[in-house]
Amino acid sequence: MIAKVIVDISSSEIDKIFDYLVPDGMDLHEGDRVLVPFGRKETEGFCIGLSDVTDVDRSKLKSVSSRLDPFTCIGKNMLALMDFMRRKFYLRYVDCLRLFIPGRMRGGRVKELKRLYLSLIDGAEQAIAAIPARAKRQRELAEKLRDGGEYLSVVAGEFGASTINALIDAGIAQKTDKPVYRKPYSDIAADDKKVKLTAEQSAAVDKIFGTDKTVTLLYGVTGSGKTEVYMQAIERTIAAGKTAIMLVPEISLTPQTLRNFRARFSDRVALLHSGLGQGERYDEWRRILTGEADIVIGARSAIFAPLSNVGLIVMDEEHDGSYVSESNPRYNTVDVAEFRARYDGGKLVLGSATPSIDSFEAAQEGRYELATMSHRISEHGMPPIEIVDMSREVLGGNAGIFSGRLAEELRRTIERGDQAMLFINRRGHSSFAMCRKCGYVPKCEDCDVSLTYHSVENALVCHYCGKKYRMITRCPVCGCDSIKYGKTGTQRVVQELQKTYPGVGILRMDNESTTTKDAYLDILGAFKAHEAQILVGTQMIAKGHDFPDVTLVGILDADMSLYFSDYRSCERTFQLVTQVAGRAGRASKTGKVLLQTYSPGHYVYKFASRYDYPGFFAKENNTRKVTGFPPYSTIVRVLMSGRDEEDVIECARGIYRELRAYQLAHESSFLFMRAMRAPIARIEQHYRYQILMRVTRESEDAVLGAVYPLLDAYKTRGVSVFAQINPQSLS
Ligand code: ADP
Ligand code: ZN
Repeated sequence: MIAKVIVDISSSEIDKIFDYLVPDGMDLHEGDRVLVPFGRKETEGFCIGLSDVTDVDRSKLKSVSSRLDPFTCIGKNMLALMDFMRRKFYLRYVDCLRLFIPGRMRGGRVKELKRLYLSLIDGAEQAIAAIPARAKRQRELAEKLRDGGEYLSVVAGEFGASTINALIDAGIAQKTDKPVYRKPYSDIAADDKKVKLTAEQSAAVDKIFGTDKTVTLLYGVTGSGKTEVYMQAIERTIAAGKTAIMLVPEISLTPQTLRNFRARFSDRVALLHSGLGQGERYDEWRRILTGEADIVIGARSAIFAPLSNVGLIVMDEEHDGSYVSESNPRYNTVDVAEFRARYDGGKLVLGSATPSIDSFEAAQEGRYELATMSHRISEHGMPPIEIVDMSREVLGGNAGIFSGRLAEELRRTIERGDQAMLFINRRGHSSFAMCRKCGYVPKCEDCDVSLTYHSVENALVCHYCGKKYRMITRCPVCGCDSIKYGKTGTQRVVQELQKTYPGVGILRMDNESTTTKDAYLDILGAFKAHEAQILVGTQMIAKGHDFPDVTLVGILDADMSLYFSDYRSCERTFQLVTQVAGRAGRASKTGKVLLQTYSPGHYVYKFASRYDYPGFFAKENNTRKVTGFPPYSTIVRVLMSGRDEEDVIECARGIYRELRAYQLAHESSFLFMRAMRAPIARIEQHYRYQILMRVTRESEDAVLGAVYPLLDAYKTRGVSVFAQINPQSLS
């Protein structure tokens, strides 16, 4: 038997299959991790296939040395997925395997964790009866051990070493090694409140399983109870003996989801995400492979969970950009999810209150099933959104962060003893510095983007490369010393609030205040426990939190995302406003939302303030159709970068020439193609050029088939080249 092996997946970039002989008696399967001789040493490899044939002279073949830890093997379905990902995303075997088997689990550096365990010896009854009456503690310990035993470290604290040793010496108890599972977020627990589904909810569950389509788009307004639909659908799935994957955009931002799932499914839930320690991850992995856990919850990468027989995959907040991996290895989670669901004959549910235009269009076309939930569970319905015209505020002499209306509502909320959330679109103190006289804006020397002012360090920081610069006090161009700090940031909002509402508790949540995995939970926990009345935050506070006492939501600068030069700007802004607004009045209290903008008449705000997603979709979809943007085309961007600008240009020219020839031969596939400097011309001293194409959706696969080989052909030591499909940002 011949094993087809991918070698050294930890470090090698070689995308080649090597043949090895399988020694007699070795029980080797496809998907096993193996040790093989390679060059002069032994290296780790992956058996991706078994065969009777080889193109190599058999006498020259070496043999597989050994099979490695069975808990790091992968199943047949994952091998099929690897095939799919190679074709669809042009990934190498090693890229796929690295996604499937995370980090240090390869190379066997993570081990089972074992701890000493104290249990009764079988047939110790007589000895227990013979414990002298004065040895009360020994008797108590023996009683405690009756139902199965306990970890030594636990009883040691309670009973002390001498009591324990006495029982061991008397032949009553024994010490053994027992594996422990490292359980992530083990302090998160809650009571399960299983509810009776509303008519809309049960119709949604029925639709998911009743339709002959694989994918169902669950469009449910915020607070319509999507999580309960997911959970009951998962319950049905595992009751049928199948497994389930629940994806959320960023697990550490949604402790609530984890809490609900733990409460309902207890230890059948495994958690996989990049914030876990290696040991924790290994243990969760093992619980999945042994079948102890049949529900996996996690962020994007959990889609690669080593489950078999997947009956249901849920992607919550399906519109979220984090589901697309935009760095190597590049892939789109929804494609992977659909493949896995189809492979196992399962279902894929995409849930959102603001579906992406692409997904909703797919539902309109009939490629997806559509389930709609248009009512909130809470009797109050959606909180009213009031649009506040900020240019009128400026004309009226108020140049501050808060409009008169917002200041008034904040005061009322505080007086009532309720809570408020204030949302702001970026981090830092003020986004940029600008000379009031000549308009000079300091930029990063390496990246050609405006620098951001951080008040804590009183420094200017490049958000692309992290480089820090001294804050300027005088304009280097005109010498004027009047420097204006640009827009508002979370820190400044907090400072203003402290001045206006002294003594009121304020919490801040942004990238800087939440650098550790637990920081999110701490801040959210403190807010939930009413340690503060106001929570100020960035995008992060928009996601999936449930605070019953929040009755006011303020969106301080909605416009920020409206004017990015990106075809998805309006879609993003609509999503953001809807998600943030959805935080208000979720429980028994009514809520209110104030949206501050300089463009009060913009159609995005009109639709968003009426919670009219279908109306927004119709308008936006029509624009896309007329202008030929996705979903009516596929954007392909080839991005080239390198330190030597001439080399990068050379590379861009070469690829462009070949693509141009292809375009001439396939005129009807192309809507647009141009080679140019990237909008951000330089990042970390690397010059960036791009070839931007818009091609018809039908020809996407064919065009990519022509593009991908060019990337390999033209990349050189100094120039890196890659392709993006419908990129999240075109900077
Ligand atoms: P969504 O994810 O759609 O925004 P959630 O799943 O967070 O909404 O649900 C909103 C609230 O309604 C939660 O507090 C949830 O526990 C509650 N809920 C969900 N379904 C029901 C139901 N059938 N009966 C009563 N309460 C429910
Ligand atoms: Zn920079």
